[in-house]
Amino acid sequence: GVERTKNILILMSDTGGGHRASAEAIRDAFKIQYGDKYKIIVKDVWKEYTGWPLNDMESSYKFMVKHVQLWKVAFHTTSPKWVHSCYLAAIAAYYAKEVEAGLMEYKPEIIISVHPLMQHIPLWVLKWQELQKRVLFVTVITDLNTCHPTWFHPGVNRCYCPSQEVAKRALFDGLDESQVRVFGLPVRPSFARAVLVKDDLRKELEMDQDLRAVLLMGGGEGMGPVEETAKALEDSLYDKDNKKPIGQMVVICGRNKKLASALEAIDWKIPVKVRGFETQMEKWMGACDCIITKAGPGTIAESLIRSLPIILNDYIPGQEKGNVPYVVENGAGVFTRSPKETARIVGEWFSTKTEELEQTSDNARKLAQPEAVFDIVKDIDELSEERGHLASVAYTLTSSFASLV
Ligand code: UDP
Repeated sequence: GVERTKNILILMSDTGGGHRASAEAIRDAFKIQYGDKYKIIVKDVWKEYTGWPLNDMESSYKFMVKHVQLWKVAFHTTSPKWVHSCYLAAIAAYYAKEVEAGLMEYKPEIIISVHPLMQHIPLWVLKWQELQKRVLFVTVITDLNTCHPTWFHPGVNRCYCPSQEVAKRALFDGLDESQVRVFGLPVRPSFARAVLVKDDLRKELEMDQDLRAVLLMGGGEGMGPVEETAKALEDSLYDKDNKKPIGQMVVICGRNKKLASALEAIDWKIPVKVRGFETQMEKWMGACDCIITKAGPGTIAESLIRSLPIILNDYIPGQEKGNVPYVVENGAGVFTRSPKETARIVGEWFSTKTEELEQTSDNARKLAQPEAVFDIVKDIDELSEERGHLASVAYTLTSSFASLV
């Protein structure tokens, strides 16, 4: 028969930059690999279809990361199964109708969740609609190590884990081996498959051609001790005796406008580029020689692909904590909260310890998994082929039934 397009709904939330980046990675890989075979809809479904508190997840996230202690408490107190289940059950009962309307509008045959809070409710709704045997539901986990147990739901067809550590937790939390796959964290194909030449990038980005470059950032929201670190780097990358810089710096502030304007106001002794939210991170990473960042999984995975030695200077308690040993124990970088220490390390990497810089860069490259996103979409395609077109038939039946009653 005629190949029909299948709808894929990707559930995400615009907290930070990581979930959107993962969602876009999966969407782009499907396009590259399968063309028009799939129609991909990326939705912050809760924002559109539900009310408080889920539609406000973005601003509560921003609030929470500003009040780190509170976030820590929330993360740990919602961890036991019975707590999050009751809480989510109450919300699900209240909002089920709207979620249902969302599903009926998009009629997805495959649902991909890239968010820790987006398994329970859609799976319940699918069950009530008697769609759970027809619609594929998969979770793509975007935390590298310590992750929140709401990621794991035994009702999924697949749970894609970025690392063996996460897979172990999934199995411990009741998923079956047949549900778990480990391919790595999905990174946008523009990263994974780009052939980039440092010299060309530097010309394009109007950077100094010769000086080694450090990239300083703090996730999509520009979090962590960015300003203090930038100031410390200015000192460590300036050779006072010869009155000339030994390195240059790029600071990407993401959505943190206050940070960007504070840094732009400074008259730097070394070459510095201050940028806001950048859409072509692969170019900035490709033009630099090392990176300083909080322990965001997206930024880490991308840095590894670009072979960048990583200095982690902060992490969000709970879900990002485990990303630190992942990087440090594998020799791809170091962790320090001190801006002075960070600046000292970069200064040494760019002068007396260039060999250490090269070695760390090699270790980073070995950890990189640029093909992960393609392995994930191939696996989903195979699952989908096995299933055929059960879902679209079911949606037709459900909506004609709805019009009868
Ligand atoms: N990012 C971006 N432009 C920016 C800042 C960040 O595209 O100006 C991307 C970055 O490349 C990464 C994501 O946002 O893919 C940040 O995700 P991460 O998991 O590191 O941290 P989060 O911001 O989600 O806490």
